[in-house]
Amino acid sequence: MERIYIGMGSNLAAPAEQLRNALDALAQLPNSRLAGVSAFYQSDSLSPGQPRYTNAVAALDSSLAPLALLDALQAIEHAQGRERLERWGPRTLDLDILLFGNRLIDEPRLKVPHYHMQARPFVLYPLAELAPSDLQLADGRHLRDLLDACPFVGLERLA
Ligand code: ATP
Ligand code: MG
Ligand code: MG
Repeated sequence: MERIYIGMGSNLAAPAEQLRNALDALAQLPNSRLAGVSAFYQSDSLSPGQPRYTNAVAALDSSLAPLALLDALQAIEHAQGRERLERWGPRTLDLDILLFGNRLIDEPRLKVPHYHMQARPFVLYPLAELAPSDLQLADGRHLRDLLDACPFVGLERLA
């Protein structure tokens, strides 16, 4: 089993419910165990004019291979009505693999650690709720340093 952190986001069609449904689906993945979920957060969209996002991070322990997990996550996105119309357009559900054990993955379909996590408070702050405070990424960076460089801006932690 490896520890995987998954970033979740939705800004269409009852976002919090989308995340709850996605968590149910993650909990049912084969050879996997849902090990934790952060609080839900709301964040401003990075693209102007879009509804705010609801975000969370899930911890999954799994023996699925990385591309098999990506396939499964994309199937969950699809089942929940994700349509890819424009890049970074509004979406019912986005599931991104942030970290996969201690692996560095650089494949056409999958880059891990997620390429933009260091710039995204809606990823780093929920991740910090679940991860050990001394977490070191496979590329050597420390989560603590990424947090220090990423202000808690445009983000609201929900009760
Ligand atoms: P962003 O990548 O900026 O968060 P996005 O999540 O909206 O944008 P998607 O349309 O969900 O982008 O995914 C585009 C492609 O990114 C996917 O088809 C997938 O193959 C690829 N991808 C690369 N690395 C990852 C990763 N770590 N997790 C999920 N998808 C990834
Ligand atoms: Mg994304
Ligand atoms: Mg995505």
